[in-house]
Amino acid sequence: MATYDTVIRNGQVADGTGKKLFAADVALKGDRIAAVEAPGSLKGNNEIDAQGKVVAPGFIDVHTHDDTALIDNPTMAMKASQGVTTVVCGNCGASAAPYIRDDYGHFLSLIVKRVENVSKTFAEFAAKVEVAKPAINGAFLIGHSTLRMNAMGDDLARQATAAEIGVMRDLLDQSLEQGAIGMSSGLFYPPAMAASTDEVAEIAKPLGKWGGVYTAHMRDEGDDVLKSMDETFEIGRRAGAEVIVSHHKCSGRTNFGRMKETLPKFTEAMKQQQIAFDVYPYVAGSTILRKEMLDRADKVLISWSDTVKGVSGRDLKDIAQEMGCSIYEAADRLQPAGAIYFMMDEKDVQAAMSHPGAMIGSDGIPFDTHPHPRLWGTFPRVLGHYSRDLKLFPLEDAVRRMTSYSAQRFHLTKRGEVKPGFYADICIFDPATVIDTATFEKPISAAKGIDTVLCNGEIVWRDGKPGAGRAGRALKRQDLQAEAKASA
Ligand SMILES: [Zn+2]
Repeated sequence: MATYDTVIRNGQVADGTGKKLFAADVALKGDRIAAVEAPGSLKGNNEIDAQGKVVAPGFIDVHTHDDTALIDNPTMAMKASQGVTTVVCGNCGASAAPYIRDDYGHFLSLIVKRVENVSKTFAEFAAKVEVAKPAINGAFLIGHSTLRMNAMGDDLARQATAAEIGVMRDLLDQSLEQGAIGMSSGLFYPPAMAASTDEVAEIAKPLGKWGGVYTAHMRDEGDDVLKSMDETFEIGRRAGAEVIVSHHKCSGRTNFGRMKETLPKFTEAMKQQQIAFDVYPYVAGSTILRKEMLDRADKVLISWSDTVKGVSGRDLKDIAQEMGCSIYEAADRLQPAGAIYFMMDEKDVQAAMSHPGAMIGSDGIPFDTHPHPRLWGTFPRVLGHYSRDLKLFPLEDAVRRMTSYSAQRFHLTKRGEVKPGFYADICIFDPATVIDTATFEKPISAAKGIDTVLCNGEIVWRDGKPGAGRAGRALKRQDLQAEAKASA
């Protein structure tokens, strides 16, 4: 009988495909899953007892801003503690590469805290990630807003010229060649608001050539959400790229209930082209503090401010009252700052999460002083609150929306399933107790019920703390595609 490096014994396997739980032992050798066999049939140098636990693929957080967190915070505890073993970075138009300037503004401060972490080329950035030896894997999108800042400097409140579009298209082409897996846009944000549909569609053309995906923080997630969906789908078609709509929501009280319009629209469009979307399991969103967003939210909490101390985690209304001014003026005085906006309907969130096109992404912002709880809570919250307690969907389907479906949509070859030959990214959790503990009041708090997490065969979370494993990789397009081809 072969002896493996590690055997995970006595667990119930949720293999990631949505197939019903089954009892099996899972053997790991090196960075791969080597065997999945009947209980008691495999022998390992190390054994992990998973009695009463579920053995699932490591979760894939498809919507993150962890680009430079992988470098500055390589244990990635906020994600490993949830069972996450791969993060897709560079979303919403913001990536840390390619960036040819020596400074970075308010928008990039969402993802960059040290200027040393921005890089002139994607290859240089990926090398920085690898040198940092993060505990978990990263895959990277190139941000359209980042491309704009390269080509247009600070003159962003206009459409790009043909020459500038050429510069951006070439930068994207070069980045994809070097290993980026796609492009993201954030037409909702000031650096890209003035960009036309044509601009984005033209820049995105290399996606078709390299097989990259297009993810979109859409221009409008409120009154004009349907129009924005059309624009996003059109860009994907014109670029020849698969589309992922980011953090799908119907934002603002007057738009509550409109998932009844957007979800059937997704269902229809999915018959014509490859489209999917991600969702986070909360009724509040979070991003930079913007006056234009205040009227849309029922409540606004400050997540960080560089100018006023002691306001993180507090209600903007209370801060304004103390300052003796309006919330709009208070927002001005706090800049640069970030905020949490309560602006969604619970029923909409549940409807979105259960749609066939939905996968789970946290959209957590890693450097916030008082972050949105999704940064530490997303995946256990879907498993414990939505699947187990509310019975929104079976556990196997919850796992699928965090693993195999996500890997397929982002072309993360050999990730997202518990199957021989796949990478040994594994999350062992207790289905009876798994739950998020991060709250809007106390957001930095590891989930309960996540037992052991392995990435590329090494333990990255165990007994409520980070493991020694630092085998995470920068997953590059060309490697993913070569491996897909070799195993086809
Ligand atoms: Zn976004």
